[in-house]
Amino acid sequence: MNPIFETSGQICQCGRVTKGRSRTGCVLLPLMLLLAGCASVQPKPGGTEAVVEQWLAAPYAPTFTVRDTESSLGPYDPHTKSITLRDLVKFHGHPCDGLVTAACALKVGLQELYPEGVVDRTDTGGISNNSPCFGDAVAFVTGARIRFGTQKIDPSLGNEFILYRFSTGKAVKVALKPGLFPAEVAALEAKIRAGQFNEGEMRRCQRLQWEFARGLLERPWADSFSVTPLNGFVWKPDGYEHLGPRGDVINKHFGRPQERRPSP
Ligand SMILES: [Zn+2]
Repeated sequence: MNPIFETSGQICQCGRVTKGRSRTGCVLLPLMLLLAGCASVQPKPGGTEAVVEQWLAAPYAPTFTVRDTESSLGPYDPHTKSITLRDLVKFHGHPCDGLVTAACALKVGLQELYPEGVVDRTDTGGISNNSPCFGDAVAFVTGARIRFGTQKIDPSLGNEFILYRFSTGKAVKVALKPGLFPAEVAALEAKIRAGQFNEGEMRRCQRLQWEFARGLLERPWADSFSVTPLNGFVWKPDGYEHLGPRGDVINKHFGRPQERRPSP
């Protein structure tokens, strides 16, 4: 055997030993095997992209048209942006039923606060329980932040959200309708959180959660969520040591005094 073509026992940068042997005479093969060995132990890009693609193709995948300021000291940007489920997943880190539940609920509630169709992310408060998925969706879609006193956590809330528009004082509560959340998913989630599960149960829970999420996107949001006005609602920020004013919105009305209304 010609030793030039012997490629066994290579160690790539990621520490994986790659084994292979060539008689083709191609000097590139060792390098190809080396790269293949490295690729097999790297995280695969877009592993859950198929889930997101499926959701985006559903008839009731929510999108949000939002308004922000132009820069760190204002003023209002005359242009709007569009937020999709893909954007939410990128912010949150994974596609999950909690994110989709929150997105659909927020869509229903924000339609009440912003019937004109553009959500002002400088003017909106949101409350959810402390689910990482619910809280992330509220912050990203509404622009609410705990550190500015515009996002709140209420552990007593279930699959429920409270949305508040500071300039109008209008508040609504949105809730997933009773009986829609699958009992098997609830049972599996409890088991997994308790640390008493096997991989098959984790995978089944994941699949059922994604199926539930897909179902929410296949029918009008109002079929799954109820919305109730909260008349006389008073917004009281949660306590937080570093609570402070939000500097990027204090001059949002510059050049547009006709839009001036009370702000958070
Ligand atoms: Zn999540």
